[in-house]
Amino acid sequence: MTITVARTREELAAERAKLNGRVAVVMTMGALHAGHIELVRRAREVAAKVIVTIFLNPLQFGANEDLDKYPSRLAADLALCEAEGVDLVFAPTNDVVYPDGPPGVRVVAGVLGDRLEGEHRPGHFDGVLTVVAKLLHLTAPDVALFGEKDAQQLALIRRMVHDLDFPVEIVSVPTIREESGLALSSRNTYLSESDLAAARSLNRALRAGAGAAYGGVASALAAASAVLDAEPGVAVDYLALVDDATWEPATENTHIGRLLVAARVGTTRLIDNVSVVFVSSGERTTSAPDVG
Ligand code: AMP
Repeated sequence: MTITVARTREELAAERAKLNGRVAVVMTMGALHAGHIELVRRAREVAAKVIVTIFLNPLQFGANEDLDKYPSRLAADLALCEAEGVDLVFAPTNDVVYPDGPPGVRVVAGVLGDRLEGEHRPGHFDGVLTVVAKLLHLTAPDVALFGEKDAQQLALIRRMVHDLDFPVEIVSVPTIREESGLALSSRNTYLSESDLAAARSLNRALRAGAGAAYGGVASALAAASAVLDAEPGVAVDYLALVDDATWEPATENTHIGRLLVAARVGTTRLIDNVSVVFVSSGERTTSAPDVG
């Protein structure tokens, strides 16, 4: 294998210094799938050089979450990165990222960090933003790419970069899905056949909700809810429709919303979201819904 892999800060600094031109970073927790690869391909389009980070960040996992069983397959990940022409992989261990143990000083995600995912995973987004901040400092990219799959994370990273003046451009990448609509996720490897069937109802529900948006916010939520209620294998943590610009609950004034779901299927927790376009009430009788 000829791909360049940095395991330490020193190796990263030496290899980063060799990368000329515009540099993109794609941050991952490993167990790479076609969703991650899409980020890498977009990165190649927007930059001359691409860095991929592979780091399972303990700071963003709660005590009862799946940190210990999270899939890890570094050799396969490196082969995928090599096939995609990635210029540099940074795959540090915990003690490289956190040499003094869990950091005392962290990024605070703020109010949005306590809602939705944050309500069910307290401290999660502080952990995410802290490692994203560190990896941005260490890799010093011009542009960083994140998936819409983790829409709240993406929104918070944009806010951090804005509020704390990080000199980096953030590019978002649409969610890659299997044919049924199920969003690709490293956690899908936990799913049994029957889990998979239940998991597919998540995106079905979101599409039903988006398709009912011509009737307004309540109709969209009701349509999505009806699909989830009909699926006994799914335990919903939340189903929410927010204004895409503010992340406040969508109202009749919302034009572009985001319909979000988090649910447990067996022992696996999954999230997904879609864009929802509302037509104004004057247009409602004539326009077909534009569903993202
Ligand atoms: P993860 O390894 O799950 O932390 O994800 C690393 C990056 O890949 C994040 O920016 C995710 O939003 C993105 N990502 C994960 N799954 C998908 C997917 N199915 N489609 C597009 N991007 C994804």
